[in-house]
Amino acid sequence: MSIEENKNIEEATASAKVEYKRLLVTAALPYANGPLHIGHLAGCYIPADIYVRYQRAQKRDVKFVCGSDEHGVPITIRAMKEGVSPQQIVDKFHAIMKEGFERMGISFDIYSRTSSKVHHETAAAFFKKLYDDGLFEEKETEQFYDEKAKTFLADRYIMGTCPVCGNPNAYGDQCERCGSSLSPEQLINPRSVLSDAIPVKKKTKHWYFPLQNYEPWLKEWILEEHKEWKNNVYGQCKSWLDNGLQPRAMTRDSNWGIKVPLPDAEGKVLYVWFDAPIGYISATKELTPQWSDYWCQNDTKLVHFIGKDNIVFHCIIFPSMLKAHGNFVLPDNVPANEFLNIEGDKVSTSRNWAVWVDEYLKDFPGCEDVLRYVLCSNAPETKDNDFTWKGFQEANNSELVSIFGNFVNRTFVLMHKLCNGKVPPLHLDVMDEKDEELITDIRDTKIRVETLIETYKFREALFEVMDLARKGNKYLQEKEPWKKASGTKGQVTSIENQKLIDNCLHLCLQLTANLAILINPFLPFTAKKMLHMMKVVDKILDWENAGKIKLLSVGYSLRAPELLFRKIEDEEVRLQVEKLKSGLVNPNEVAGSQSPVTGNQRPATTEESAIVNLKSTIVYDDFAKLDLRVGKIIAADKVEKADKLLKLQIDLGFETRTIVSGIAEHFKSEEIINKQVVVVANLAPRKMRGIESNGMILMAEDANGKLHFINPENNIDTGSPVT
Ligand SMILES: [Zn+2]
Repeated sequence: MSIEENKNIEEATASAKVEYKRLLVTAALPYANGPLHIGHLAGCYIPADIYVRYQRAQKRDVKFVCGSDEHGVPITIRAMKEGVSPQQIVDKFHAIMKEGFERMGISFDIYSRTSSKVHHETAAAFFKKLYDDGLFEEKETEQFYDEKAKTFLADRYIMGTCPVCGNPNAYGDQCERCGSSLSPEQLINPRSVLSDAIPVKKKTKHWYFPLQNYEPWLKEWILEEHKEWKNNVYGQCKSWLDNGLQPRAMTRDSNWGIKVPLPDAEGKVLYVWFDAPIGYISATKELTPQWSDYWCQNDTKLVHFIGKDNIVFHCIIFPSMLKAHGNFVLPDNVPANEFLNIEGDKVSTSRNWAVWVDEYLKDFPGCEDVLRYVLCSNAPETKDNDFTWKGFQEANNSELVSIFGNFVNRTFVLMHKLCNGKVPPLHLDVMDEKDEELITDIRDTKIRVETLIETYKFREALFEVMDLARKGNKYLQEKEPWKKASGTKGQVTSIENQKLIDNCLHLCLQLTANLAILINPFLPFTAKKMLHMMKVVDKILDWENAGKIKLLSVGYSLRAPELLFRKIEDEEVRLQVEKLKSGLVNPNEVAGSQSPVTGNQRPATTEESAIVNLKSTIVYDDFAKLDLRVGKIIAADKVEKADKLLKLQIDLGFETRTIVSGIAEHFKSEEIINKQVVVVANLAPRKMRGIESNGMILMAEDANGKLHFINPENNIDTGSPVT
């Protein structure tokens, strides 16, 4: 290493110097409305866990808190769709999430939930304090209301036709097909998700937090005092602040959530983004009676790990709330990651374009660390990144197996063969430059890794650890201890040769012990296996031991090697890609589907069979409301600027109808003329791309997403009822 590099390391180490007494690390509270997938892990849980495991190894006072976010619109929608209570939904998914984290080794000190009593009390008291201090503005506004369901509707509760692409199932805040962000006013034929009623405007009162009052302070605090925040975080904050902040409603009309603790607030709850971050405080309260040390003492370092979609809430809204309250510390850093795509496409839980952790562990048992490795070495730290199964295989086979696993395995095999399974001595009289170089590399790597972890550069830190293993392989290759055993039965024939073998394997074993310490924050399951092989206790993983070369005592006998990683075959990867593609669901297509699939819900995969994803039970009267008729397609024309839509003329016997259908990508116009189809004949008219559609054609969708017509076995009279 050059003098210049040395200097850089010293400077970086100085800047990461510890001045705090305790650390509080939070990871974003995930919505309890679906299982864990790798996008979650890559976004914040793996980096947070690496950071915390490292801090624990440093013997620092650190608490790691998280929990399920159990309020909010996606949960109520899912509950409604499944015909169960929101509480049932969150109970189910809280347990599933918690288990997923545990199995992946995410080592929270507490994984709580926002439906807990402590949290309800804490969040309500927080709100009350700001209210009593006169900090809220009370405002009456007009909001959409569902007269049938007798409730106000958040934007997500309103659906209608997207004015941009004609998707009939666009939400009041966004069209998931074309990605346009929308307001409910823009939707064509808006309807309530709850009851299908047409929403009306109605007056309602809410409490607004005047964020604009905190703007000067936020500019100073973030833009001047926290220039060290990651570029993506700092940049997003700057753009929010440059655009100017507005008052934000901190309450909502809903029955699910934390009741607004005021006398005239019937049917109103705290806004989910008001209550969720307070969940970090509540979780700490549940964890330790000393919670206030972590939240109210200035020598606490508070770090929020989140994904990029949460930046504004953690850098602007929550800090302003904390500042307004006055009793709490502010975050020292908010290291947010960007998004992880899968095979070049955005993760979409509603389309089932995701890799689910429970399924991964079923297909790759014992490979927790492989996933942790891939998600860290390819983490979206500075920009969106892509997970591919091919890349997963390569990272495993050519890095974990060929470099790290190979070094440890060769070291143990050779030590058993050439040194009787015991740690050989180090003979100073025959040490050479290469030995010295390896010792220096071990020491320098430790310093580099800790500097990188302290500054949230986990990818680079992991690369340094792997690079040290790579250097170990190179050292072993250059030393060739097996060639020094040149006797007819492979035995060592001279004292000199035995000394050279001893030195090589002594250093390789000390390096192995160092690798266990350095890899432990990243791959804790692997570090555990290595401890077992070395017959040493957890204590050796203390960070202060890293960089040393006297970790394993001379003469100590070690276990036989076990493989740390196995090769992943092409066939396994092919199956995963197939599974991903065949599980793909597109709920926004017109074919037969009226109901939204929202949030984290995982549609049934082909393995579970599509039938599993049943809608809630209906009574016969509900079915009888449908007027289904046999019709015949007599004309089919492409709709301009809409790749998916066909404008069909359907002969129903008693009349001819125009129906717009999203089947253009599946059929050519000419091949469907004269085809008999089943039509929902009494569906309210809807405009799509300016064309009024009067009904819907029933289609069946197979596992590959291909559509098939539903029609009578034999041609029958058009207009015949289907009963
Ligand atoms: Zn659209």
